[in-house]
Amino acid sequence: MATGSTPIPATAIAALRRLVRGRLLLPDDAPYALDRRVWNAAIDRHPGAILQCADAEDVTQALRVATDHSLAVTVRGGGHNVAGRALADGALLIDLSRMRDVTVDPDARTARVQGGALWHDVDCATARHGLATTGGLVSGTGVGGFTLGGGAGWLMRKHGLAIDNLRAASVVLADGRFVRASADEHPDLFWALRGGGGGLGVVTEFEFGLHRMGPVYAGVVIRPATEAALALRIFRDVAPGAPDEFCGMTVLAHAPPLPFLDAAWHGRPVVISALCWCGDPAAAEATLEPLRRAGTPLADHVGPIPYLQWQHLQDGGAPPGRHQYWKTASLADLPDAAIEALAQAVQSLPTPQTEIHVQHLGGAVARAPAAETAFGHRDARFFVNLIGVTPWADAYPALREAVRDLHGRLQSHALPGLLPNFSGYDDGPVPDQLTATLAVRLQALRRRYDPAARFSPT
Ligand SMILES: Cc1cc2nc3c(=O)[nH]c(=O)nc-3n(C[C@H](O)[C@H](O)[C@H](O)COP(=O)(O)OP(=O)(O)OC[C@H]3O[C@@H](n4cnc5c(N)ncnc54)[C@H](O)[C@@H]3O)c2cc1C
Repeated sequence: MATGSTPIPATAIAALRRLVRGRLLLPDDAPYALDRRVWNAAIDRHPGAILQCADAEDVTQALRVATDHSLAVTVRGGGHNVAGRALADGALLIDLSRMRDVTVDPDARTARVQGGALWHDVDCATARHGLATTGGLVSGTGVGGFTLGGGAGWLMRKHGLAIDNLRAASVVLADGRFVRASADEHPDLFWALRGGGGGLGVVTEFEFGLHRMGPVYAGVVIRPATEAALALRIFRDVAPGAPDEFCGMTVLAHAPPLPFLDAAWHGRPVVISALCWCGDPAAAEATLEPLRRAGTPLADHVGPIPYLQWQHLQDGGAPPGRHQYWKTASLADLPDAAIEALAQAVQSLPTPQTEIHVQHLGGAVARAPAAETAFGHRDARFFVNLIGVTPWADAYPALREAVRDLHGRLQSHALPGLLPNFSGYDDGPVPDQLTATLAVRLQALRRRYDPAARFSPT
């Protein structure tokens, strides 16, 4: 138990043991040490107890016990949140990691997804029917947190964010009541779930609309870091006019040991243009050609690939257990000054694992009506994620300073507000990261649906 956190009373533990079917772990239980961990090793918190729920009924019972005993509660979906929002010292952790079922209705083109599912679960289940919906770039990311924070992925410019494909959510509220939120049922709750970052209840099931999905035309073009400014300028110029089928990301990093890249370049600073075209492959080249041709590519590995395989390709680069410090900024454009700052940064990334990701929005993301969801970045053209990573705890303070410093240099170009999915633990709870209008409405709904503030501020 962490110093200062209050143990969960024995009467509450006894009630949980009596009422739930899932596994309850206390700090003295052997698996607790492993199961309290989240993806980011820099998050070191000690929940008072971990309840690995078997089903939605367990969630209901857990919240009733929490109400009866005034317990603080947190929720874990995939545990990928870099700020560690799934964990709080001393709180009861409602862990959904055993609730990962996905049921696809191929005729209705919908998927019902349990609250603890990972994108791997959804992508595998939908691919069997030649269907897909916008999911995360790394397949171990939880559907829960990803969706509640908006959900940006390769299909978003064609089919919208994850929240734009969300038809309904089954939610257990703080007092244990079970409700369904959709455009017609609890529409205010449905608004807040779509981009508000959680803290309103436990979503036990998400229902997504699906789309026909054949192979994508996708891959990477790698250039020396000296061509970072060139690659970013071309990306900036191509992105606004590109068809919705195109989604790209420019990555500034040290070259991974890819088999199609000359080994002499492995570990050296490079700029990687990651390109995905989700429409007719025959039409891809007209958009991708300028992004592939410019400068002196060291490797060009782009072609048709099953969407499911593409969704898993980045997994190896994002293992759990490293110390992560992230910052994010949304931009209306990529001015030359921002490009210069980024191009300089790639020459001196603070660690070999640190990366900078520049992604573009627009397309279906920009067209969805802003007032219908709590997602506040429909007008942003680009977002920049500074992904600070080190395997070593003692290198963390220096990494954090370096990432903060670079983030500071981008601030004059940034729009107000932060993307909740990429904000860090020192950015405060999600409502603090939103623009004032969204924050006021979200806070009011959090107070309405969770009047006793049972859910720890996230
Ligand atoms: C390697 C990696 C790749 C990523 N790629 C992308 C990407 O491509 N696009 C993108 O938009 N984001 C991406 N993210 C960010 C990610 O979407 C967020 O960190 C998100 O919060 C992770 O969700 P989770 O369920 O795994 O996290 P958790 O840490 O389990 O939860 C995050 C928050 O959501 C709440 N929550 C989770 N599930 C539920 C639920 N069922 N009901 C109620 N509350 C719940 C938790 O309480 C917590 O507040 C990535 C993150 C990582 C680490």
